[in-house]
Amino acid sequence: MTVAQVPPARLTVIAGPTAVGKGTVVTELRRRHPDLFVSVSATTRPPRPGERDGVHYHFVSDAEFDHLVASGQMLEWALVHGTHRYGTPRRPVQERLDAGEPAVLEIDLDGARQVRAAMPQARLVFIAPPSWEELVARLIGRGTEAPAERARRLDTARVELAAADEFDHIIVNDSVARATDQLEEVLGLSR
Ligand code: 5GP
Repeated sequence: MTVAQVPPARLTVIAGPTAVGKGTVVTELRRRHPDLFVSVSATTRPPRPGERDGVHYHFVSDAEFDHLVASGQMLEWALVHGTHRYGTPRRPVQERLDAGEPAVLEIDLDGARQVRAAMPQARLVFIAPPSWEELVARLIGRGTEAPAERARRLDTARVELAAADEFDHIIVNDSVARATDQLEEVLGLSR
């Protein structure tokens, strides 16, 4: 089956500003649905404490990333927060879609736009914060970024929030359980 023949809504792209809690919502979704395929991205960013290669990301060098892009192995990729590159390896996603199974990507706005252009049948879900103040509080509270990096991420977040209207669904992450319930609905998953 080619991508064009894949039934609608098999590919779901989740995006949203930094620190909105996308990762937490997707983790909860995976906890509820351990068999659901969630793409593991490749990144040139170094691992944070506790992150495992092949599980959270495929941590690759700049040269390896260059090769993945040049050889057409990336479904999409982007420079995120102006620092590191992140991309979705094409093959694992394609295999799921070819098998008629759902695939979930958690990527940035730029990547979501690329997927929409390449696969118009993809469903785009935007995870939004309850408010701007709450987003800033979450980013500071997370404490994983130095002040300069935090400022860069907030700049990106401002731009990303303005793009929410481009998405098919907007889910406000005021509670992880509720946001995950809504995501299940979009994905057509029942518990
Ligand atoms: P972090 O460094 O906090 O793990 O991720 C930073 C950002 O990179 C997040 O907003 C996340 O959505 C985005 N990201 C992660 N993987 C990918 C990917 O494969 N492609 C794109 N375009 N963005 C990604």
